[in-house]
This record gives sequence, C-alpha cells and structure tokens, in this order.
Amino acid sequence: DIGAPAAWDLTTGSRDVVVAVIDTGVRYTHRDLAAQMWVNPGETPGNGIDDDNNGVVDDIHGFDAITRSGDPMDGDDHGTHVSGTIGAAANDGNPHVGVAWNVQIMACRFLGALWGTTADGIDCIGYAMTNGARIMNNSWGGGPYEQALYDAIAATRDAGMLFVAAAGNDGTDNDYIPHYPSNYAIDNLISVAAIDRADQLADWGFGDGSGSNFGRTTVHLGAPGKEIYSSVSISDTAYDVFQGTSMAAPHVTGVAALVCSLYHGDSLTELRERLL
Ligand code: CA
Repeated sequence: DIGAPAAWDLTTGSRDVVVAVIDTGVRYTHRDLAAQMWVNPGETPGNGIDDDNNGVVDDIHGFDAITRSGDPMDGDDHGTHVSGTIGAAANDGNPHVGVAWNVQIMACRFLGALWGTTADGIDCIGYAMTNGARIMNNSWGGGPYEQALYDAIAATRDAGMLFVAAAGNDGTDNDYIPHYPSNYAIDNLISVAAIDRADQLADWGFGDGSGSNFGRTTVHLGAPGKEIYSSVSISDTAYDVFQGTSMAAPHVTGVAALVCSLYHGDSLTELRERLL
C-alpha cells in the first residue's frame, strides 16, 4: 500500500486544489465523485450561455473536447476509475475512499472508448491550464513524439502545473522505446510505473511478458497498479477492479494533491522534489 493513513494524519487534502483528469470523462454523478467535482465558479448551469467567456457553454464540471461541449460525462469507466483513486469521497457506508478526500476534480474528456486525438488532448491541457487546475492526471499514451504536445506540456510547466503521466503497459523499457507523453523530458512531468502488492514491477498476468513499462532515466516513480478497486461509470454506485499504469498514475496525482494542500506556497520544483 502507499501508507496513506499516516499522510491523512497530516492532511486529507483541500478543495483549493484543482486536479484535471484528462481522460474519457468522469461520471460526475457517481456517489463517490459528485461532491468532489470541480465547480466552475463563473458558469451558470444550463442557461445555454458561456457565462465566463472561456469558450465552452455550461461547463460546470469540465470540458468535452470530442463534442466541444461542457458535458464531460464518462461512457467508458476509465476516467471515473482514475478519478475515484485520486479523490473518492469519504462518505458514510461507502466502501471506497480516494488518496485525497478533499479535492476538486475537473473532468477533461478527449478519449472515446478506444482512442482520442492529440489535438483534443492538447485542448484539454489548455482548458485545465486556463481554468485553474494545479495538477493534471494523464493515464494515457501512444503514438510518436509530437512537437505540439511537447509545447502544450511545456506551457503548463511555465504555469507552475504538475503533469503526471502513466508510463505505459507494454512491459518495455522507456529509455530505449519511448512512450509518449510520459517520455517528454519536461521537468513538470512525472512518469509513473505500476507496482503490485509485493512492491514489484507489475506483470499483467497474461503470460506474454506484458506488464508495466519501466526506465531508469525516463520513469520516476512506481505506484500501485494491480488489483485497484475504484468507481466506474456504469452507474452512480458502480465499482470495479482494474489494472494498469493508468491506475498507478492517479495514486501519485492524489499524493500530489495532498502535498499541494499541505504546502500551499510550494513552487513546482519543491512539489516535484517532495513527491520524488
Ligand atoms: Ca464557460
């Protein structure tokens, strides 16, 4: 485990910390997430007007880059699972709790069930930056080096934001076979491998050698990524067990949210050093 109870003696997070989940969306009505969602202070729900002039109409809990709308509802479980690990509520009678109980989760959707476009991902990064997120969780990857994506992440570094990225699920060495976005060498980026309950690099158990990616110089942390129980999007009370570096990254993101709540004045460099 990650020793969370000792951290919770110090802080359980803060609503002042906004975490963008750049993913398949979030089931923002889920009983573990409804109270944890970012609420856009400049937007009036359902009036059909872009009240805060940020380019998106009625974006209360985030942004959907695929439909260009303010409704980032998750239809694929993935982003809802990630969000539950970061910040599921500590509500009564409920079996699940996130790493940071107090947090605001901003849903930024650019992934459909199987894939998304880099352009939509960049738009989500831009939305997170413009609308006040401090931390971004990026449980996704694939494709070649793209300068536009590099530049988008570099802009978030200049804005003091942390970019947490999943290292990939191929069982390969990212020092030799680059995986993006986790391999972009930008110093606000933390690449996260998955480990199992014995603190070993995760093997997915398919018997084909697939497991967490790794990399002496390109992967920075390991976090739990096997047998991870969290919220899913099929209903407001649904949960499931997933595995992957997608599940590891949000553990680091949750810890980053705790650190931000405890050390408000930290620079990006200080935040990163504390995490590492
Ligand atoms: Ca708006």
